[in-house]
Order: sequence, then structure tokens, then C-alpha cells
Amino acid sequence: MKKDKRLINGIEFEVYSLNTLVIGTGAAGYNAADTLYDLGQKDVAILTEGIRMGTSRNTGSDKQTYYKLTLSGNTPDSVHEMAETLFKGGGTHGDIALVEAALSAKGFYKLASIGVPFPHNRYGEYIGYKTDHDPRERATSAGPLTSRFMTEKLEIQINNKGIRIFDGFIAVAIITKDGAAIGLLAVDAARQESPDMGFTLFNCTNIIFATGGPAGMYLTSVYPPSQTGGSGMAFEAGAEGINLTESQYGIASTKFRWNLSGTYQQVIPRYISTDREGNDEREFLDEYFEDKGRMLDAIFLKGYQWPFDPRKIENFGSSIIDILVYNEMQIKGRRVFMDFMSNPACAVRDGKFDFGMLGSESYNYLKNSNALFGSPIERLAHMNQPAIDLYMNNGIDLSKEYLEIAVCAQHNNGGLRGNIWWESNVRHLFPVGEVNGTFGVYRPGGSALNSTQVGSFRAAQYIAANCKDEPLAQDDFIKAASGTVGKVFERAGRIASNHGKSNIIEKRLAMQARMTKAGAHIRSLQEAENALAESIADLDSFEEKTVAGNRREIAEALRNRDILLTQIVYLRAICEYIRKGGKSRGSYLVSDENGMLPLEKLSEDFRFSLDSGNLLKKACVVSLDATGGGLKFNIDWEDIRPIPTGDNWFENVWNSYRRGEIVK
Ligand SMILES: Cc1cc2nc3c(=O)[nH]c(=O)nc-3n(C[C@H](O)[C@H](O)[C@H](O)COP(=O)(O)OP(=O)(O)OC[C@H]3O[C@@H](n4cnc5c(N)ncnc54)[C@H](O)[C@@H]3O)c2cc1C
Repeated sequence: MKKDKRLINGIEFEVYSLNTLVIGTGAAGYNAADTLYDLGQKDVAILTEGIRMGTSRNTGSDKQTYYKLTLSGNTPDSVHEMAETLFKGGGTHGDIALVEAALSAKGFYKLASIGVPFPHNRYGEYIGYKTDHDPRERATSAGPLTSRFMTEKLEIQINNKGIRIFDGFIAVAIITKDGAAIGLLAVDAARQESPDMGFTLFNCTNIIFATGGPAGMYLTSVYPPSQTGGSGMAFEAGAEGINLTESQYGIASTKFRWNLSGTYQQVIPRYISTDREGNDEREFLDEYFEDKGRMLDAIFLKGYQWPFDPRKIENFGSSIIDILVYNEMQIKGRRVFMDFMSNPACAVRDGKFDFGMLGSESYNYLKNSNALFGSPIERLAHMNQPAIDLYMNNGIDLSKEYLEIAVCAQHNNGGLRGNIWWESNVRHLFPVGEVNGTFGVYRPGGSALNSTQVGSFRAAQYIAANCKDEPLAQDDFIKAASGTVGKVFERAGRIASNHGKSNIIEKRLAMQARMTKAGAHIRSLQEAENALAESIADLDSFEEKTVAGNRREIAEALRNRDILLTQIVYLRAICEYIRKGGKSRGSYLVSDENGMLPLEKLSEDFRFSLDSGNLLKKACVVSLDATGGGLKFNIDWEDIRPIPTGDNWFENVWNSYRRGEIVK
């Protein structure tokens, strides 16, 4: 890597030149840099807004799951069978599913060998369990913090190799030339008050883009607060998005962000709502259920039916709870809490929970757990004390206070579109990890973490074999970059010179509230179209209306613009899906006036019908053309590619391999 200083429009900028820049220090980014180095490309560096930021480093769940090929026991499994499972989710390309399956064992064994504590038995078998959408027992876990362990162990590899990390740098624009990525513009947060405002250029042959999911779009989110994502700059550079409509949402606590699955629901807490000030407390679920036993069962089932799923609404299914929480918050403007201190009032007879009201599944579970007693917190302490400790360690005492909740965004199945080497349509730009739209409508739990390792390996393997060129000569790079740099520098200057009190947080909250209302788990064409129009208007007036209190906030202001661009492309995809006739599927409900109303007391907006499955064989591809001033969208519905069944005769593959024809 070389460092230089170059003038653009009279301002001197630092310029680093190298073969590959990896953006992001999540599980995907770290593995990409580490693998690339191992494969011989040592001219690599990582850039991150913060080494300890992002989803992998800061998230977890009861038993955070990693999905891979079966590696224990006597039940048969195969690469193709696992690919079938991934493919069956719908909207997923078969060749990508096959790669995810083929390399799952490799990615997993690497993590195990660098010290991620995945449990195995005395004979070395990595025992698995069954996760959602999983016909085998392919799931494993290193505990509640699997992804954190992954980043910690991978970070050690990076440090041992001496790979440079540009820490505290916020990527803001991808520089392109003739349809290929040639570099990056980032802000060094520590130098925003210098004449170059911290803007730093990276002249590189390849970018591995591992910026994670688009968390910054949502107000109610269980992504960690430090994760916002950076997809907007990729869209602006012309990268295509695929399956952007497909995300996962579920009930989570908001003060400390954590999924409320498993035992938290199985102990059947009270669901209450209050007005904004915390007054007028009500057990709001009661009024929608005539049969209170069904209500208690629906709460219980949320435990292992965590993500909102429109197939689980009818007949008082568990996803009705997500709808009622949304209705209370978004439609009625109230706050919603779970209370573990007392039993739901409707279940109390003679001062005790009447467990006879429960259906057999809930009753038997609690009976088998010896938990047919007491209050929710007492049952939780009996069945899963660590679940209480976790909140206590994060400043929330479930035995003394209510837990504020919302239906939150958790994961994006779609994202930037890549090929089987995770290269986007913008050549030399490789989105890996959650930012890549590997999945379609449904996916097995744990496959997101597998994907971080498989995609990053594939991109590194391809780059090491095919993209070894030096970066552009400095003069050529500066010539190609000066347009983008000039534009962004001018934008930053304008924002910095707008007088007044900073409105960056206020603007971000407004954008996020819009997406949570119109582009999360409850959708309608009208709402999505309105939200899209508002977002585009916000983008048009962005520079004029954004006030940064001081220069140190420039990067945050530009981040707002990235979120806005991301939101625009995602909302456009949602509008397209509904206009095409797409109905409720995955983890969202689409309002349909000819559909069924989940409960009579809900407004007509909640009428919905399930998708027929016709669109599962297609994937919607959306991209942005921002070159001509205004915004233009390109939309395409591409056919899903089947799982390849090519020539697997060993001698033939070996010959091709020796001739270097495979990694192409
Ligand atoms: C609550 C929760 C539970 C989950 N449970 C599971 C599970 O059990 N199993 C499973 O498989 N998956 C699970 N997931 C999903 C999984 O954790 C993520 O998909 C995965 O960790 C994403 O890894 P990543 O490396 O792609 O991105 P991240 O880990 O989010 O890393 C992104 C990196 O990019 C950096 N970055 C972003 N934008 C910029 C920018 N503009 N400039 C510089 N740096 C930038 C970030 O700071 C960060 O370092 C869960 C997610 C959540 C939120």
C-alpha cells in the first residue's frame, strides 16, 4: 500500500493505493481480508467506522445459531440436499444456494480451528440441532454470542498478519470508471476539522463491501445501535439490489435491543400498553380475543415462532400478536411493554394462573418444565435464569420493571446482487455478508452467519486468482475521482455552512419512523408510494435542509443521505412488488382490500391475503440511475436459476482445475 497527497480543486487529499480495500469489521469483512492474505494477496487493508461496531460484534440471541452441513451422527445429508433447503425458501438462485451449502463445512471448520468454541463430543463430532426451516439438524451454536466470538477470533488473525485497519473511517462514496469500482472516498472522523474535512481517497483495484444490513432505515430495530449499513453508496454507484422486499421482523425489547423469543414468551408474560406518558395502562390484547385461552397460547407460541409470518395469523395464530403490537404503537400511538411481574389478568382465578385455560402444547411444555406455578418472572427464573441475568447486566430488572417492546427489523434476506463469486454488476465491487442479497423469502435460522463466511471466502478466492492488477496510475485515478470528490466535498461544505442547531438526529428519526410505518412488516401500496415520494423530496432538499452543528458532524450528515438513498431503493422495490400483484409472504403483510381481516376489531387496512407463490420463481432486481440529475429506477424481474447439476466426474473437474478454469 502506498500513501500520497494529491490536489483536487485546490484542496490537498490523502490518497492510499492498494490492491483490495475491505470495508467493515463484521464477520464477513474480517474473513474476507484474512482469506485474501492467506491466498497470497497481501496488499489488502480494512476500513471501518469502528472496529467494535456492527451487527456481528454486538448482537446475539438465546442460542445464536450457525447453519452448516450435518457433521455428526448417522443421518444422511449432502451438499445438494442442503442447497435444496436453502433454495426452497423461494426467490433464491440455485447456484448461489449450492455455493452456500458446498462451502458451509469449510467456513465452519475454519472458525472452529481459530478458536470459536463450537461444541463437539468426545469423538470430534460437531453435534447439531434443528433450527427453523431446517429438515435436518444442521444448526450449531457457540452460545448467545456466536457472532461476537467469530469477529474476535478473526480479528486476532488479522492482527497477527499485520493487516492495516483504518479505524474510525466512514465510507461515503464508491468511485467508478466505465462500470467498475476503482476506489473509495471516506471520511476520517478524527480529522473532520482539517481543511480536507477528513476526506481520504483509496485508489484500489477491488472493494470488498462488507457493510452489513441496512439497519439505519428503521426506527424499531433489534440491530445493534452501532449498525447503520452503507448500501446507499453502492446503489448510487449503480449496484443492483435483489429481493430488497425480503426482511425479517419480530418482537424485541427496545431500550436494550434483544429478540424476545424462546422462554421470554413461553412463560406467558402480560402484554400492556400505555399512552406516551406512561399513563392509562391496559392489557390491550384482551379486547381482541373472546377465547382468552387462545390468547395465552398465541403468546406462548411466539417463543418458537419468533419472526412475524403472515401464514401464522389466521385462526388466532402467534403472528396476530405482532399485528396487535403494531396496531397499538403505529395506529394508536401508544407504547407497548411486556410485564413479567404479574400474570395476564384474564388467566387469574383465585389469585393464581389457571393453567387449565391453555391448549395442550403450551400446557404440556410448562408441565414438562415443572413450571405450572407462580408469576412469569418466577417461571422464567425456574426455566432460564440467564435470560433474566442478561437484562440485569444491561440495566433492566425484569422483576421490578416493565420491558418496552416493538416489532423490530432484524435481518435483510435481500440486498446487493452478486454473482456466484459475490461480485456485483459493478465490476470489482464485491458485496459480502448481510449486505449481499443471497437469500430470498425464507431461509433457515443460522444461514446468515454461514453466508458471511462463504461469501467473503468466494470474493477473496476470485480476487486472488483474477484481480491482481495494481490500482490505477495516480493521475488517472485522480482524474476519474475528481468529479465524485468535488461533488461530495461541496455537499459537505454546504451542510457545514447551513446555520442553526444541528438537525441530523431529528432528520434521521423522521426517516426511520417513515420506514418502520410504511416499509417494515405491515405494508400497503398507498403508504409505500407516499413514503417513497416523501423520501425523494427529502433527498432533493437534503443539502438545503440539513444542518450540521459543526464540522465534526459532517460524516453523520452524509450517513443520513446514505440511509435516505437506501430507503428510496427499498421502498421502490416494495411498490414494485405490490404493483406486480405480490401479496403477503415472508415476514410482511401486504394490505389487500379483497383479503381477510385477521380480527373484526382491526381496521380495514389489515385485510390481507397470502401470496400464491407465483412470484417465488422470480427475483425483483432494482437499481438506481442517478447520473442524469433526477432519480431513475431500473427494474427487472429475473428468473430464478435452478441448482446446477453439471459435470461432476472427478477426472474432468480435476483437469479443469489444473488448467485454472474453475475460479473464473
Ligand atoms: C438480534 C439479532 C440476532 C441474530 N441472530 C442470528 C442467528 O442466530 N444466526 C444467524 O445466522 N444470523 C443472525 N443474525 C444475523 C447476523 O448476525 C448478521 O447477518 C451478520 O452478523 C452480519 O455480518 P456482516 O459481517 O455482514 O455485517 P456486520 O457484522 O453488521 O458488519 C458490518 C461492518 O461494516 C461497518 N460499516 C457499515 N457501514 C460502514 C461505512 N459506511 N463505513 C465504514 N464502515 C461501515 C460496520 O461498522 C461493521 O464493522 C442476527 C441478527 C440480529 C440483529
